[in-house]
Amino acid sequence: MSQADPSEISRLADATCYVLLDGLTDAFLLCDQDTLICYANLAAKKMFPGRDLIGRSPQDLFPDSRFIELIDACRSMGSSVRRRLVLPQQLSPLGSLENRGENCWLIDLATLTKKDHPEARLRIMLRDLTAEHQSEQVRKDFVANASHELRTPLAIIKGYLENLLEDGGIRDVAQAQRFLQIMEKHTDRVVRIIDDMLMISRLESGEAASLRSEPFEILSCVHDVIERLEHMIHTQEASVDTSSIDPQLLIKGDRFYWTQILFNLVENALKQNPKLGLKVAITAEVKEGQTMISVADNGIGIPTAHLPFIFKRFYRVDINHTNSAIKGTGLGLSIVKRAVEAHGGQICVSSMPLQQTKFTITLPT
Ligand code: ADP
Repeated sequence: MSQADPSEISRLADATCYVLLDGLTDAFLLCDQDTLICYANLAAKKMFPGRDLIGRSPQDLFPDSRFIELIDACRSMGSSVRRRLVLPQQLSPLGSLENRGENCWLIDLATLTKKDHPEARLRIMLRDLTAEHQSEQVRKDFVANASHELRTPLAIIKGYLENLLEDGGIRDVAQAQRFLQIMEKHTDRVVRIIDDMLMISRLESGEAASLRSEPFEILSCVHDVIERLEHMIHTQEASVDTSSIDPQLLIKGDRFYWTQILFNLVENALKQNPKLGLKVAITAEVKEGQTMISVADNGIGIPTAHLPFIFKRFYRVDINHTNSAIKGTGLGLSIVKRAVEAHGGQICVSSMPLQQTKFTITLPT
């Protein structure tokens, strides 16, 4: 049997190693003793498209002083270094898209001994953590916003409680009654915020996957919503036109959430427009293989600059535009969007101030 040629074995081992490195989803770079790149795997090439990586300094690719400090630390300590770096997208390698314009990277550096690889002195691994970073940010924002929204009514309730507990506070019955009514109003607000938050959390957790999917008549759902809002409609002398909806038109989904979706949209139209005589129109039809549902009103409208943000959690159009007496948590449209998306649909809005605001839901049939 012929003796295996050691140089051939080493060549094969190298080739296998490079095939494996090309299979990684993380970018992997090797640098020589002058800290110039001598190898880049496939993921690294994709991360820096259109650039020749070999012979370049890694700092050219990652022009951030923190990255350079990491390389220096790794070289001087001779051990491995791991750090997360958040970079603005325009200064970042090509990573996942993120709506705040940031990318997050896990940088993992280690020095190599000469024995590992005769040329290489440093290995660099870059892992795209943008998606995790984004969901972490969303969670942090949610907690911060929720705490802020809850703190205001709770501070008011506490203030009135202190007044009542002060000497003699409770003896003035008329005043105590007034304080209790104010406290009740703010307690209702706390309950409403918590209910909305729970609904969002249910939609965002696994529950969306287990939504019921049964056909039901959309018109009967619309009638339920109108019934629940009867008092408001009557007081505001508003009209809700549903005449174009075919009573037999069915949609498939979770009726509980569809009632909530339509309720939030119609209630918004009414509460944003307390002026008498508002006209609301609800339509539903099948068009080009899709079910289109719309809720339109001829009220105050939403200024164009606010339109991109109104589905964000806790977003409310500014106080000058919105009557501060209007009840709301800024979560209503967020719930609507998530519930529509959980049914595989999409929602969009168009508005011409003082003429029309229209929310349109598109659902695959
Ligand atoms: P809120 O709990 O404040 O109603 P939403 O998420 O439901 O929160 O709505 C966000 C903002 O969008 C509201 O504060 C309001 O300013 C605006 N908005 C929603 N629907 C309408 C509408 N039909 N007409 C005018 N403004 C609207």
